[in-house]
Amino acid sequence: MPLFDFVCKTCGSSFELLVRGSSAPVCPVCGSAALEKQVSLPAQPGKTAGIVASARQQAAREGHFSNYAPSERPRRK
Ligand SMILES: [Zn+2]
Repeated sequence: MPLFDFVCKTCGSSFELLVRGSSAPVCPVCGSAALEKQVSLPAQPGKTAGIVASARQQAAREGHFSNYAPSERPRRK
């Protein structure tokens, strides 16, 4: 079920709404159907880097190193 951010053109309030296939969303404040759908912001690059870092930490805790480059893996004797 997609959740969208809307801004009401009539009263100016902003809110999130679940949008079902056929039903038109209306403003929960004034009941107007003149809504403007807001575009979601894309994921920030820094956030992606944080996800990779935490995945690597988890891999290290679990004892496998598939997320590491070969030069970063512990050397075998
Ligand atoms: Zn409204």
